[in-house]
Amino acid sequence: MIIGKSKREIEKMRAAGRLVAQVRESLRRMVRPGVTTLELDAAAEKMIRDAGALPTFKGYHGFPFSICASVNEQVVHGFPSAYALKEGDIFSIDCGVTLAGYVGDTATTVPVGRVSEDRLKLIRVAEECLERAIRQCWPGKYLGDIGWAVQSHAEAHGYGIVRDYVGHGIGRKMHEDPQIPNYGKPGTGVRIRAGYVFAIEPMINVGTHRTKTLADGWTVVTLDGQPSAHVEHTVAITEEGPEVLTLLAESMPEAEAVNA
Ligand code: MG
Ligand code: MG
Repeated sequence: MIIGKSKREIEKMRAAGRLVAQVRESLRRMVRPGVTTLELDAAAEKMIRDAGALPTFKGYHGFPFSICASVNEQVVHGFPSAYALKEGDIFSIDCGVTLAGYVGDTATTVPVGRVSEDRLKLIRVAEECLERAIRQCWPGKYLGDIGWAVQSHAEAHGYGIVRDYVGHGIGRKMHEDPQIPNYGKPGTGVRIRAGYVFAIEPMINVGTHRTKTLADGWTVVTLDGQPSAHVEHTVAITEEGPEVLTLLAESMPEAEAVNA
């Protein structure tokens, strides 16, 4: 069942979204060769708790950390570790916070130092896929429109689109109905209504879309070992179109720009 949110609830989700966006951007600024992913996890947890919120991921189905830290061929759900990021890596940070009972969920993929042009392109296309998906978030559109927006753009660049993991509704719980695949047919699936809030999260691979999970039971990697990028925003659907809740105020696009 899809849980529609009232304006008052969306106001609370705005606060959670703003906080997790601040955490994401702070971590992004800390990324450099030599920093360990465990240091970034500790920094995230401190920021979240200092703000009076909870790290949603920690303890979620037993996940032991506050962020997912996925490097290179790791797609999602990587464990922060003593691994020190190195020049040329691409590093996905996924983070969730629960503030006043509502969840914000966001991810970004960051180049570490100087990174090859093909890896930068992968990140850029993943970000473009997310932007295109967000532009479909209007009342009266369909989930299939979101999936197609991602799929058509990624495939135009020859990339694989992860099928095994998808976006989701979000609210009091991190994972609510519906599932939001990054593939689909326009005009099919659930009809989008004002008050829905979605976490949209394309996972785009240089090579095959197929994945496997490592022995830790969590870390998902590409089956062919080629790099993967993951980006995510929490988006509220309003009568006036999409409102991205996980942008910082200063980088908030105009409504017209989002609908361009
Ligand atoms: Mg996430
Ligand atoms: Mg998510």
